[in-house]
Amino acid sequence: MALPDGSAPGIYIHIPFCLKKCSYCDFLSFPAGPGSGELFRSYTDALIHEMDERCGLLPAPADTIYVGGGTPTVLPLESLSRILEKSFAFATPCCEVTIEANPATISRDALAALRALGANRLSVGMQSIFDDKLKILGRAHTFGQFLESYEDALAAGFDNISLDLMYALPGQTLQEWEESIRLAASLSPRHISAYSLSIEEGTRFWDLAEAGLLQKADEDADLEMSHMAAALLGELGYEQYEISNYAQPGFWSRHNSKYWKRIPTLGLGLGAHSFAGGKRWSNTRDMKEYIDRDFGMRGLEDLSRWDEIQETVFLGLRLNEGISLQDFLDRFGESFESVFKGPLEKMEKLGAVSRAGGRLRLAPRGRDVLNAVMAEFLCQ
Ligand code: SF4
Repeated sequence: MALPDGSAPGIYIHIPFCLKKCSYCDFLSFPAGPGSGELFRSYTDALIHEMDERCGLLPAPADTIYVGGGTPTVLPLESLSRILEKSFAFATPCCEVTIEANPATISRDALAALRALGANRLSVGMQSIFDDKLKILGRAHTFGQFLESYEDALAAGFDNISLDLMYALPGQTLQEWEESIRLAASLSPRHISAYSLSIEEGTRFWDLAEAGLLQKADEDADLEMSHMAAALLGELGYEQYEISNYAQPGFWSRHNSKYWKRIPTLGLGLGAHSFAGGKRWSNTRDMKEYIDRDFGMRGLEDLSRWDEIQETVFLGLRLNEGISLQDFLDRFGESFESVFKGPLEKMEKLGAVSRAGGRLRLAPRGRDVLNAVMAEFLCQ
């Protein structure tokens, strides 16, 4: 498994439990609570077993561990502690260790214990400062609970916190979005992710939208909110480094950057995805199979040269730093300009992409029509 120079792999650990299912969520997660002790134990046992079987395949110790879900903090502390301790055996000592948390599931004591165990980054779903919007989203917490958790996280010693915000919500005004951004930034988290609501099949929102009972913000409002996030967060000291992600200097998500830069990551747990050695695969999405230790690779795919080129473009253009044209040439033995001559000329003419300093980047105009730009490069 060849790694780009200086790159260590990442480990992703999926915890597929949540207090309740949010109305917009299509992630692989199930409602589970304090009465789910036996399920939590069996799942944790299977996960530890999978780590023993799989982590030895890593070509080098991981330098990021990301425990996501679902809501990892729904698991009892004892389970989280077993999972973290086991994963550290396959990681470097200065590893970035992120845990996703939902404000309704974290106490100050639990946060302090996680910090003491070695977690050093917390990703918290804040979404909005308005309780009516949180209720529409089906979130299990109020804004007041979020604030309390944030204070608790700081008191527990977490100085690298990422907040998730959502825009283009039903009934959300531009002013409400601005207030959510300003308040989030006033707390000075290291990192802010700002996602546009997407209505996905299989969710409660999808059913409501199909029945004509839910209306997402229209495209113009969505675009206006996206422009506001970029401008306002920039003014407030957050550098946009990816289409939906902003950070204070030096606080990019190291783990998520691995996905965009196509650095190998090993996915552990129900339905987790992995990428390594030019292959992609995923784990079973069936809880019984997983708990029965069926860790066979599902959908194992050998990426062709063209698949790799497509991924490089699709993921690289999401990053503000764009694609290194020299790296492209070194990797694929052919220049970007010759592979994509027609689309490149067309997109440059339209002002959707630009070349400077040996890199190709999306121009602000290209960000607004991202899908059309991607289609131009990828469907030729
Ligand atoms: S907390 Fe996150 S993973 Fe869980 S249901 Fe809500 S959006 Fe989905």
